[in-house]
Amino acid sequence: DRLIDASEQSNEDSVDRAIRPKLLTDYTGQPHVKQQMEIFIEAARHRGEALDHLLIFGPPGLGKTTLANIVANELNVNIKTTSGPVLEKAGDLAALLTNLEEGDVLFIDEIHRLSPQVEEILYPAMEDYQLDIMIGEGPAARSIKLDLPPFTLIGATTRAGSLTSPLRDRFGIVQRLEFYSVEDLSKIVARSASFLDLTMCDEGATEIAKRSRGTPRIANRLLRRVRDYTQVKSDGKVNATVAEQALDMIDVDKSGFDYMDRKYLLAIIEKFMGGPVGLDNLAAAIGEEKETIEDVIEPFLIQQGFIQRTPRGRLVSDIAYLHFGLTPEK
Ligand code: ADP
Repeated sequence: DRLIDASEQSNEDSVDRAIRPKLLTDYTGQPHVKQQMEIFIEAARHRGEALDHLLIFGPPGLGKTTLANIVANELNVNIKTTSGPVLEKAGDLAALLTNLEEGDVLFIDEIHRLSPQVEEILYPAMEDYQLDIMIGEGPAARSIKLDLPPFTLIGATTRAGSLTSPLRDRFGIVQRLEFYSVEDLSKIVARSASFLDLTMCDEGATEIAKRSRGTPRIANRLLRRVRDYTQVKSDGKVNATVAEQALDMIDVDKSGFDYMDRKYLLAIIEKFMGGPVGLDNLAAAIGEEKETIEDVIEPFLIQQGFIQRTPRGRLVSDIAYLHFGLTPEK
């Protein structure tokens, strides 16, 4: 497994849970999102109504699940969590919806992966708090309607483009999470270090932040590896040098790239003369799933200007060549 893979790992331990912010004030960065959510939450609370449905999108590990939990916590309501691929049948979603209490949050991760039958149930539920399902089959089948309590649906997705427009249109609030600045990631690393009882100077936190691909989940994961290294190889205190040595050892370079990013970039440079190359060819060349390439590897490389997605395919830019000490193609 990639150490800097930002996708979720299911074995969250007690430290992970402690590190995950519970209040909006502890949610570092994303100033626009925070400012807006603060107002929307306060207004809903003031009116005693359920918050409007909220769609959160952004690459893995940027804090979508964390934000959903914070919203429920700040609204003082329960949160029920599920995900698109888990909801196979209309009845799976109906069971969740009928168990909600007034004002509760239903969080659906990977909402772009809902099946059409399940999505169909969601429309009237979101719009009119109505459940409209068919029970039975053949001539005995009949449709039943149920009133649901007002609730808030929070959907998270890595790809807003994959959402059907009827679903997207039913969200009153849409928030897009951006990659975090080194400064914000340093704050996150410093906060997490205190939960891990780790002594660390600002420069140490900055070194980890710089190599975290703008992603809190990666920052926290790198911090744990730096902690291991420090305990064994150093005096237990993290400074810039120790952090650098630890991260070099685990092969995360100065740009936060690991072997997968390097393999990806070098494939375009060496096998496809810098591109443009189509996603299918590229996926075959590096032996990686197309979805992983698009959702996990590429967003940060695009944001950093290492590659471009063009209609004709992926194209590396000059800084990608320079990163490897190569001369850009003319
Ligand atoms: P996503 O759902 O987008 O994949 P998560 O919400 O699970 O990401 O966040 C991954 C980890 O990063 C969490 O465990 C949390 O501790 C940390 N994290 C995410 N966003 C923030 C933030 N804004 N401030 C501090 N920590 C954060």
